[in-house]
Amino acid sequence: AALYQVKSKGKGAYYLLDVKEGVALPGKSYLDSEENKEDEIAHKEAQFESAEDLVLFCMDLLENVPNLTSALKVICERTCSFFGIDDMICMEVNEAGPTIRYQWNREEKKDFARRILNPGVFEWDRIRKKADESGAVIYRQSETPDVYKEEAESVMIVMSTAAKGLKASVIFSNRHTDRSWQEEKNALCRISHQIFNRLRTLKNAEKDQRELNRKLNYDALTGLPIYNKFVDKLEAYMAAHGKSGLFFVSSDFSNFQYVNEMYGYEVGDRILHDFAIALQEKCQNGVLFCRVTSDHFVGVLKEDTVEKARDKYLEFTNTFVQKTNSRYDQCNLVIATGMYEILENDWSVSSMMDNANEARKQCKTQKVDSAVEIYTEKIRKNLENTREIVSGMVAAYNNKEFRAYLQPKVSLHTGKVVGAEALVRWIRADGSMVMPGRFIDVFERNGFVTKVDFAILDQVLEYLQDALAQREEVVPISVNFSRRHNEYTDFVPNILKRLKDYKVPSELLEVEVTESVFMSDLNKLTNNLETLRDKGVEISVDDFGSGYSSLNLLSKVAVDTVKLDKQFLDDTMNSEREETALTIIKYLTKMLKHLGFKVLAEGVETKEQLDMLRLADCDIVQGYFYAKPMPIDDFRKFLQEFNERDNA
Ligand code: C2E
Ligand code: MG
Ligand code: MG
Repeated sequence: AALYQVKSKGKGAYYLLDVKEGVALPGKSYLDSEENKEDEIAHKEAQFESAEDLVLFCMDLLENVPNLTSALKVICERTCSFFGIDDMICMEVNEAGPTIRYQWNREEKKDFARRILNPGVFEWDRIRKKADESGAVIYRQSETPDVYKEEAESVMIVMSTAAKGLKASVIFSNRHTDRSWQEEKNALCRISHQIFNRLRTLKNAEKDQRELNRKLNYDALTGLPIYNKFVDKLEAYMAAHGKSGLFFVSSDFSNFQYVNEMYGYEVGDRILHDFAIALQEKCQNGVLFCRVTSDHFVGVLKEDTVEKARDKYLEFTNTFVQKTNSRYDQCNLVIATGMYEILENDWSVSSMMDNANEARKQCKTQKVDSAVEIYTEKIRKNLENTREIVSGMVAAYNNKEFRAYLQPKVSLHTGKVVGAEALVRWIRADGSMVMPGRFIDVFERNGFVTKVDFAILDQVLEYLQDALAQREEVVPISVNFSRRHNEYTDFVPNILKRLKDYKVPSELLEVEVTESVFMSDLNKLTNNLETLRDKGVEISVDDFGSGYSSLNLLSKVAVDTVKLDKQFLDDTMNSEREETALTIIKYLTKMLKHLGFKVLAEGVETKEQLDMLRLADCDIVQGYFYAKPMPIDDFRKFLQEFNERDNA
């Protein structure tokens, strides 16, 4: 407050703030600044020569003192002492009813104000009707209502006009002597109306401030708080009510782009707006909501159990979606939601949102049905794993911790090792091994997989170069390449350049792509694979039959070998499915071979499987039955020894 004061007086000044009962008093030091020639107000405060002086003093204070309460304190004191008045009460009627802004009492009997402000006693509109043209209503002993009679001999109330929505009054009273108020009425009314003016300005400023706050903190389209405001509100809510029974939800509209395309942005906006309204009005267990981005909403529910929270929220989203879809019958909206139970030691709202988002990704039929998925221990472990993997990956790459292991492929025609597959192993500095199942998916998502694949390719080519130089026997090695390589134009040139650099014939390299690659950008993939194949690199399709198979695609893409997914063999181990699985393998192999592909079976673990594959006329097998993936040096020995034996 002192700083505020002194700043308004210009540079090089100081200000001594006098504080009493927590209220800053404009006392002697008021306007104490080197720039002020004369301390006018402090001067006048001692004695006012006339009522006019008092009125001017009050006007000056009201204009210049930023804190209204401080100003009122001095005004009430000076006015009452100048006119010998016992009480001066400034009050305002707002939504909460009559409220005291400031009161000054000569005697410590403040319940006077409380009593007259009782609802039913102080009816502002009724009293206002009695006021004369200057706004004054006078109650003298004979005509005073009971409450006033008990407390005071004579009361004058100055009423504001109701202009700009302000309903305010200043009440003056004399406790023990009667008074006509005629002499002082003019001055008291002028002071009161100055106070009303100040209150009006304040009210407008507050309204402007509220409006500004609303604009800054609330989303214009939906009226929901923006994310930062939501975080503040949620933190305040949790501080006040605790965290138990709170569930964080993150909801996303699927197919929303079709709404905009079909019906235009106006309808899209209306749906988002309606959803926000529904969240606030129809979602029974809702506490707080926020629109994070276009069609992504988050919020907090309060409920006894996770199941109840999920069921109710799902019903709510289903109802909304049904209503909207029947109104706009082309749009087929779906809302996918992730739900996270807030725990006692959670403090970061953004990680609550991350967790709910992670759960949302588990909604299986995101594009077909609305669903609510709950954040589980499994998701948490997954996330933890992802964080650990991501935080260590770059250093691991630089330390060359991603090592190529080789698993032999054996021909069923010759019984010899005719190839090997390179499989990545993350060997940590402490010697521990991380299997690709823990990190390849993560790297697929963040794109790092492309670096790892080339690191594996380099190790394979380095080995082949060396083995060729030593005139060792070599076989083609297959390297797994992620679908993400197709995003880069230099994918194929990069492979060809390396073959050249290491002087390894392209016939010794095989490129494995997983079947799901066919789902992504087919044209680019076809071109890439065709170029490689023209240069002599063999192509194989991995995990065939694991999911997205389309025989039709095989006829479009240049492929040499089809690797049957391990699942086919696993099914032959299951007595119920054995018969079917055997039949499928037999006929699938037959057909693929008829189409001109070599057929390889992955994951061969037993002699029975091997015999069965022989019967099915499969060409090549790979699996633990022969060998597990092993370090390159081990494979070099394995290859020589195995192929020297007579395995036929
Ligand atoms: P994949 O390419 O289908 O590789 C075959 C997986 O089956 C390998 O698992 C291999 O160790 C395993 N396997 C081989 N024979 C048997 C068997 O008889 N029984 C059983 N139970 N498993 C067998 P791995 O090495 O854990 O690799 C898993 C997957 O990770 C690979 O499946 C491949 O999709 C991916 N991956 C591995 N290395 C790389 C790589 O360098 N780059 C890329 N992009 N992906 C890789
Ligand atoms: Mg593979
Ligand atoms: Mg495979």
